[in-house]
Amino acid sequence: MVSGESSKLELSLKCPVCGSNLQLIENSTYVILGCPHCKRFTRMTKKYVYKNYIEYEGNYVHLKWTELIKELYIRISGQSYQESDTP
Ligand SMILES: [Zn+2]
Repeated sequence: MVSGESSKLELSLKCPVCGSNLQLIENSTYVILGCPHCKRFTRMTKKYVYKNYIEYEGNYVHLKWTELIKELYIRISGQSYQESDTP
């Protein structure tokens, strides 16, 4: 990923509020899960992602996508909207 640029990925996960497809956005600092329709977003610092969702097996680096998305989805589904960088 080039620093300063952001990349966007449309997921098949639905927004808990309006049912639109959620988007996963990545920029140089954050990984963001958000709904483009109701403007509901939750984000995590990449530092946090690297620390908690990356496993190293020798030379192999494994990103635990499923767990990462699950955590973000739990946050976005929360009753009250909270923007937190740390749990
Ligand atoms: Zn929505």
